[in-house]
Amino acid sequence: METHLADFIRDTTAGREAESILRACVHCGFCTATCPTYQLLGDELDGPRGRIYLIKQVLEGAEPTEKTRLHLDRCLTCRACESTCPSGVHYSRLLDIGREVVERKVPRKGGPAVMRHALRELLPRPALFGTAMRLGQMVRLVLPPVLKAKVPPITSAGVSPRPGHARQMIALAGCAQPSMYPNINGSARRVLHALGIDLVEARGTGCCGAVRFHLNEAEGARDDARRNIDAWWPLIEAGAEAIVMTASACGVQVKDYPHLLQEDSAYAEKAKRIAALTRDIGEILTAEKSALARRLEQCSPLPVGEKKLAFHSPCTLQHGQQIRGVVESLLMAAGYELTPVADGHLCCGSAGTYSILQPEISGKLQANKLAALTAGQPAAIASANIGCIAHLAGASEIPVRHWIELIDARLMA
Ligand code: SF4
Ligand code: SF4
Repeated sequence: METHLADFIRDTTAGREAESILRACVHCGFCTATCPTYQLLGDELDGPRGRIYLIKQVLEGAEPTEKTRLHLDRCLTCRACESTCPSGVHYSRLLDIGREVVERKVPRKGGPAVMRHALRELLPRPALFGTAMRLGQMVRLVLPPVLKAKVPPITSAGVSPRPGHARQMIALAGCAQPSMYPNINGSARRVLHALGIDLVEARGTGCCGAVRFHLNEAEGARDDARRNIDAWWPLIEAGAEAIVMTASACGVQVKDYPHLLQEDSAYAEKAKRIAALTRDIGEILTAEKSALARRLEQCSPLPVGEKKLAFHSPCTLQHGQQIRGVVESLLMAAGYELTPVADGHLCCGSAGTYSILQPEISGKLQANKLAALTAGQPAAIASANIGCIAHLAGASEIPVRHWIELIDARLMA
């Protein structure tokens, strides 16, 4: 697409990147067919091609309005359009650039500004968020339904194996996961321990940076990334083999640290090393699948009533990291029968803080996703990202678990 960027952005890193992305788009519109917001709203400007047009106009000097911002806000950043695009258009990068410019030119006021500020301050702070979550869990039974759906019951991380293996990997604790679903990393620790690997958490880590990045606070996200790199570095120098992600949304963000820190001379090279070592827990278990198979052979068969399982592949796994079929193979190797799920490429509506900021669209996507997931009458739903798990569990009549918890339970059987 022919593009003539305005002076304010032409000779910047973001401008050069935006221009090359815009030039790659041939306007075929294939991406529109797989866009969840276009499917729901039926407006070209709520699909990828329309949003690309809007961003192009802004970068070429047109003044954005609140309506421009609304169409960009409604994007889930699910990246289904990137998986579909035959020209390899890196839409999400263009969206980040466009959102940052529009946010500056059309600042938010009143309630929406306060809400975003509160989310940026609360979510990425594990101690603060953990205290708020624990208070919510204590009064969960009397919470109004809309809040109760967002507060899972209190659970524990389970028994932690004693470290002692020669092989070591690093887990990202994250911000919301330790207080909402501590058993996810607990399960990852036990499963890897059974395969001869210690999984350790470095002191001083926190949010991967995705929360602040997607609320248009890129500098805050860079601070999160630098803090995590500093905390991980001594363990990496001591020989840790990998940085393991049990939340696929965090995996996308950490794998993107080299781009986030490309202009930071003190961290750019370290960020590349971190990204090269970062693996989704599904990738790790696939690399260890022979050892896993030997352990699974020693387990009791899965009870017939628990066999049928529906897997929801998060957008951050299948589109963001382009990891497909990996978790499904591991679950089948563990004895599960996966039920067919229609429109598996579509977002469940969680999308970070989207379910809070765009509740109507998010609710429709959640209802559609749960209908697709339960059509095959599974005993439970499995997924690979805390955001999707919490969002689906808030309205599901059957259990929603992280798949590593199911592998953990199988190894214990
Ligand atoms: S599919 Fe790709 S090239 Fe075609 S309109 Fe969408 S982004 Fe542009
Ligand atoms: S990221 Fe998702 S919601 Fe946004 S334009 Fe692409 S397909 Fe549509």
